[in-house]
Amino acid sequence: MNRVIVGVESTAHTLSFGLVDHKGGTRPSYSAFFRPHEGGIHPREAADHHTKAAPDLIRQMMVAESLSSSDVMAVAFSQGPGLGPCLRVGATVARALAHDWDVPLIGVNHCVAHIEIGRQETGCIDPVLLYVSGGNTQIIARAGDRYRVIGETLDIGIGNMLDKFARSQGISFPGGPKIEVLARDWIDLNPDCTVDDIPLPYSVHGMDLAYSGLLNAAQQKITEGHGLEEVCWSLQEHAFSATVEVSERALAHTGKTELLLGGGVACNTRLRQMSLMMAEQRGASAVWPEKQYCVDNGTMIAELGRRMLDVGFSTPLEASAVNSTLRTDHTLVNWN
Ligand code: AMP
Ligand code: MG
Repeated sequence: MNRVIVGVESTAHTLSFGLVDHKGGTRPSYSAFFRPHEGGIHPREAADHHTKAAPDLIRQMMVAESLSSSDVMAVAFSQGPGLGPCLRVGATVARALAHDWDVPLIGVNHCVAHIEIGRQETGCIDPVLLYVSGGNTQIIARAGDRYRVIGETLDIGIGNMLDKFARSQGISFPGGPKIEVLARDWIDLNPDCTVDDIPLPYSVHGMDLAYSGLLNAAQQKITEGHGLEEVCWSLQEHAFSATVEVSERALAHTGKTELLLGGGVACNTRLRQMSLMMAEQRGASAVWPEKQYCVDNGTMIAELGRRMLDVGFSTPLEASAVNSTLRTDHTLVNWN
């Protein structure tokens, strides 16, 4: 392995190190996940987890990839958006590595990294990105030298909504994958069920979305005596329909013909299926990278770092502070 860019991801519950070679050849990441004993992610506890996990993960990566410091061209890290304490652990590790290896440091935008790993892995060129994760839900497209947010959640992220519903039903974090299984089991056994049988609020507001009303209504359905499986199914149908509807409108408005899915919720088979159906009906395509590159991962940070390094970008130490509210359209996009 030689001439690589190392990426450090630490925006929330995932600490991950990954690398790409100088041509963008990707390698699987080395990741550790903070799992809260109860409740949601406590930023301080997640940050402590990341601090403890970092040395072993770096060692694992160096050994497994036969990597020596002289192979490394740059160290990229997630500068934001995310949870401040978690971001600061990744930034500190990245600064130390870049200093020790005497290579440039590159602070990257986490949301943009989801786009660039998706483009790299799927070969799509100018997509609308449906970015659906725990903390974020955004519909993003490039206009000129920025990735613009065309629509987004007005309250909580779609993954967070699924996780919260699951937690209220005694299902541990992350709830999204378990809801998917319950929903699939339900519809397999009840193929004639329609959303009118278990109606929930539909959360589209112009080009934006909202999920907390849906969450409350789903919990209410349980209180009224509906079974968990059927509510999980209806919750997915409503949340995903709304999300795909906004994505379709983004395709229509921008004239783009590729929908790219990214973020942890993009692992969901039903969301992928709905996206594909919508895209096919309008002569567009819907694509997504494999699961390891949908969820937060260090490789995507390395890949965006590679593109920024190629156009001569690096982050001076004094500009390397994290920004927990960094916006997608803050980042100048001057690469292809
Ligand atoms: P991320 O924030 O991108 O790391 O992704 C984590 C989020 O993705 C959590 O909210 C998970 O519940 C959610 N998630 C992961 N897999 C699935 C799935 N198969 N279906 C729905 N949500 C999922
Ligand atoms: Mg993410």
